Amino acid sequence: MGKRISILIIYTGGTIGMVNDPVTGTLVPINFRHISDQVPELRRFGFTLDTVTFDPVIDSSDVTPETWKAMANTIRDNYSIYDGFVVLHGTDTMAYSASALSFMLRGLEKPVIFTGAQLPIGVLRTDGKENLITAIEIAAAQENGLPVVPEVCIYFENRLLRSNRTVKSSSEHFNAFSSPNLPPLAEAGLQIRYNRDIIRYPTVRRPLEVADTFDTGMAVLRLFPGIGRATVHSVLAAPGLRGLILETFGTGNAPTLPWFLEELSAFIAGGGIVLNVTQCQAGSVDMGLYETSAGLLRAGVISGGDITTEAAVTKMMILLGSGLPVDRVSSMLTRSLCGEMS
Ligand code: ASP
Repeated sequence: MGKRISILIIYTGGTIGMVNDPVTGTLVPINFRHISDQVPELRRFGFTLDTVTFDPVIDSSDVTPETWKAMANTIRDNYSIYDGFVVLHGTDTMAYSASALSFMLRGLEKPVIFTGAQLPIGVLRTDGKENLITAIEIAAAQENGLPVVPEVCIYFENRLLRSNRTVKSSSEHFNAFSSPNLPPLAEAGLQIRYNRDIIRYPTVRRPLEVADTFDTGMAVLRLFPGIGRATVHSVLAAPGLRGLILETFGTGNAPTLPWFLEELSAFIAGGGIVLNVTQCQAGSVDMGLYETSAGLLRAGVISGGDITTEAAVTKMMILLGSGLPVDRVSSMLTRSLCGEMS
């Protein structure tokens, strides 16, 4: 008989782990050490399921790069012991955290599956049980002794999505996440069907390393018709700002106003990086297609292609924190490091 599969469940906080306190009636976190009391179905897997609970558990709106470090270090410290990891996380910023971990965990060869819920696990109609059960099944899936999905992913409702391609697209529906520019890595119906052509498998084997230096000297600026110079200027003049993610229109278009291009050119000439991402939910930046983006190109703005803002934010923070020169950071921002761009 083969070795029993072992999975580490890391509960960071969020709705999924909540139950109604019988005395006060308020939502309180459950004791994850006794997770199978809440979800008895877990016993039927026959896996070793261990749990770690963050102290304190946090609403995901309070997540910071320090939280990402704690998540990544928990995985690193337990990497040799477990076959896979399930991270339970609030849905609100899950796409940021899961994206961050995809860039932090270098040399990852085991599944790291994020999931959460729209309704607490203690509520009758919860989506949390199914999400948890299937996330564990995916984290444990192996073929010829190797994991089927050795990536950081988000499992939600019935789809497994690449973490750094995912956005939270509904605050209401059980189907809360989407991956507009990449098909799901798996779909769970009667069976879990894996899309093996899209799943990334390691080509070089190397020990797991955690990149955990972040520089948060960056901003996201979403353009809108009528945006004024004072607003653009004050963002670019923020002390310590080294990188700007510019959310532009359509295929990467922006106003052709001379002051706007002057502000961007001055920031870039001073060593700043401006990364162009689209406000559209799907599709890619294609600078130079219209005159309204040719000016950006001339000013030195670089293209984020079809990256999500969530992935762009975490990728930029990590690259700015890497100590690499600006031209290396810029060149790495324009290409895919771990499947985040087409
Ligand atoms: N506000 C919660 C959070 O993101 C919502 C959730 O858990 O889904 O932590």
